[in-house]
Amino acid sequence: MRAIGYYFPTPSEINYMTCLECEKELSYMDHRRSMELFQAELCPAHRKRMERFLAKSQVPAEAVMLYYGLRHAGIKPMLAWWDGKKTVDLAISRVKLNIEIDREVESLSFNEAMHELEGHLCSYDDGFTSIRIPHSLIRYQLGESVNGILRITEGLREKTRVV
Ligand SMILES: [Zn+2]
Repeated sequence: MRAIGYYFPTPSEINYMTCLECEKELSYMDHRRSMELFQAELCPAHRKRMERFLAKSQVPAEAVMLYYGLRHAGIKPMLAWWDGKKTVDLAISRVKLNIEIDREVESLSFNEAMHELEGHLCSYDDGFTSIRIPHSLIRYQLGESVNGILRITEGLREKTRVV
């Protein structure tokens, strides 16, 4: 047996693909398109709505990947959150964490990127913590990016518990 380049899902697998927002079933092509754009299952209507939202708010597609990744992990982040002065790419209000996607940093190794992530953790007087996460880390290591944010969120939660 050798592996072949094309993979065709069986009908039962196709049924399994539903929109994360409305649970509408996705065709295989819609599934592919949505995964390529956002690494998340969205029906054409919700995908287009998201594309328009990104164009308007200037938030990168990686923020959407992280948004659905975090939602899947049980966290409810806010996309393109207005903090009163500027639009934050992603925010987790419960632990006062602002997440900025770094569009500049290119092709870091995974370890460098994780180091960047932990290194850019800064707290401000208003109680908010801000991190910058390289876009390539999200795009190529979404699971690890989500885990990294979960660890930071857990750390912040511990801190607020102690205070
Ligand atoms: Zn939908």
